[in-house]
Amino acid sequence: ATPTAIMVGTGKAAEHGILVRDAEALETTRRIDAIVLDKTGTLTQGKPGVTDLVPAGGFDREELLRFAAGAESGSEHPLAEAIMARAERDGTSVPKARNFESATGEGVRASVEGRTVLVGSRAFIEGGGISTAALASEVDRLSQGGATPVHVAVGGEYAGLIGIADAVRPESQEAVRQLEALGLEVWMLTGDNRATARAVAREVGIPEERVIPEVLPERKAQEVERLRRDGKTVAMVGDGINDAPALAGADLGVAIGTGADVAMAASDITLIGGDLRNIVTAISLSRKTVGKIK
Ligand code: ADP
Ligand code: MG
Repeated sequence: ATPTAIMVGTGKAAEHGILVRDAEALETTRRIDAIVLDKTGTLTQGKPGVTDLVPAGGFDREELLRFAAGAESGSEHPLAEAIMARAERDGTSVPKARNFESATGEGVRASVEGRTVLVGSRAFIEGGGISTAALASEVDRLSQGGATPVHVAVGGEYAGLIGIADAVRPESQEAVRQLEALGLEVWMLTGDNRATARAVAREVGIPEERVIPEVLPERKAQEVERLRRDGKTVAMVGDGINDAPALAGADLGVAIGTGADVAMAASDITLIGGDLRNIVTAISLSRKTVGKIK
């Protein structure tokens, strides 16, 4: 590719809010044949809100929210922010937490009002020896609707779950359709549970067999590597700190501009407005640009 062609290509891309790092990135864009999309903040808006408070055992809704908010007050995770926002809206006074610990991709643990509180995925709570079976049917109902069930345990007892929903971006379904029409394999990768991941995948048109759920942050890069070893040229699209190693390891890393700075630093392309249809625009621009000089 001549420098002029590259400049024209990257200039046109920039007009669409697509920032391309260098000539090599534009050249790779033309060749990708598999694309891995992070769920939260990439296919969805990344602005989750609490929809359900379902207490268990002897707990009531106010206690469930109070203990959860206390433990989450030290976390910057979007799910934590949703819980804090709900506590504020309901006028719940949030108790101070001590000994806060966060397990990335799993949940948080802290001491609240003298009791050990766990908030997180089912695996995280059950790993602490606490059964969540009492609310299994509520878990199914919430996850089948695409919401994330966040479990809460207080002092070694299951206290209930908090349903948190994150709306799919309006353009995601169209973007998936266009990417498939270009002949790309479209995958979803997420730390969230299988049922929730599948429900969101169905909503955006990604087939079940291309959903990779319950992936801990450090394993996201390995999943991308697995596809590369299958001989694919892989683009990874993500927004979070936990996506950065996968973005750096992909043939083409694509960051959502509204996401974490670390994600953008690890990427070859940044989509300023986060519109996934711009990946399709980038692919056609790169095909035109590189095609011309051939
Ligand atoms: P994603 O891949 O969707 O960005 P993460 O890797 O950040 O997700 O988190 C994976 C899962 O771990 C979440 O769906 C949730 O069940 C649990 N989790 C992580 N952090 C928290 C937290 N601060 N509070 C509650 N649950 C959490
Ligand atoms: Mg994310």
